[in-house]
Amino acid sequence: MDIVWEYRGHPVQTLYFEGEGKVAEMLHASPEAFAIAGLPLASWFNEKRLLVEGTLCTRLAKGLKVVNEIFHGWYRQCGLLEINASEGFAPTLPLARRTVSLLSSGVDGLTTLRQNRLDYPLGHPDSIQACITLFGINTFDCDKNGPVPARLNAFSELVSRLQELAMVEHFQLLPVYTNVRSLAPHYRYWIKVGFGAGHSAVAQLFQKQFDQVLWASDGDGANPDPGAEHPLFNRHYSTSALRLLDDGLELSRKEKVALLSQWDIGRRLMQPCHYVHIPEAGKINCGRCEKCVRTMLLLLGMGKLAKVEAFAENDVYWKILFQIPVNNRRKALLLKQSIPDLQRIGRHDLVWAIRFRIMLYSIFRH
Ligand SMILES: [Zn+2]
Repeated sequence: MDIVWEYRGHPVQTLYFEGEGKVAEMLHASPEAFAIAGLPLASWFNEKRLLVEGTLCTRLAKGLKVVNEIFHGWYRQCGLLEINASEGFAPTLPLARRTVSLLSSGVDGLTTLRQNRLDYPLGHPDSIQACITLFGINTFDCDKNGPVPARLNAFSELVSRLQELAMVEHFQLLPVYTNVRSLAPHYRYWIKVGFGAGHSAVAQLFQKQFDQVLWASDGDGANPDPGAEHPLFNRHYSTSALRLLDDGLELSRKEKVALLSQWDIGRRLMQPCHYVHIPEAGKINCGRCEKCVRTMLLLLGMGKLAKVEAFAENDVYWKILFQIPVNNRRKALLLKQSIPDLQRIGRHDLVWAIRFRIMLYSIFRH
């Protein structure tokens, strides 16, 4: 789809979503997907209207207005838009009573899958029947020439691992390729308004196959700070055909890691790594980035790190706390979650290092 700017003074941009084989046949280029992806961009750059070609679901048109007002209230940067469709508004229809979720192999998506399998029998309409996995939602996935070959290789290895999980847990894996992140002007845009819309847009491509999408919470609870993933938004990115439902809001990050550490295949496949650097061959987590370190600290405190094959490391050396960025309140709070267990097992070296690291953040803010 082409994005034509009226006020920004920017050349036309093309947004794409692609699948291969059966997945390509399942994708439906719904105007709703493109409207969701376009809303935060249009608001952030103070366009006056969001006009989508085709018919837009009535429920979503109202929801986008709400999302736009929230963005406008939270961030002075974001303007209010008129939302329109060239062929008007009409409710979409749910065509299948089936559930899908998003899965990157990170802690949140895996927890949603695991909880779902524990809570629902296969065949129940709320049981996850497919998982969407995305390429193109990280800054490093694409450059000015398109998808980066090394990143495509890493994604294809991830897809192979998830195919194994799909066999064991009886779901269909749906890899989708997009450039939605490439349209984000910077990281600040992505975490404030872009992330949730980018993922929700992909979900609406499957509105002819499923009628609900489980959206894994990020472990920050039901009342997190304003941001693009806030639980306020999901119902407003829903259509009559496909509703987005929050999942796991009641769980902390620590509780999610604990749940995965008791699951054989979860221990092998969990991939919380930021992937800023592709891990060396044979490893699926780098073991050095901020997300790896805080996950390893949680596992170590639970006495599970050595049993989690997804991490090559069996211990955490205190010095690594001073090599990771702790540059916002969320990262500091997440790090803090590991202190009680580490204290309990007598790892005072790490408790001291975490406390010192958080103190440095509170003084210098990085
Ligand atoms: Zn890592």
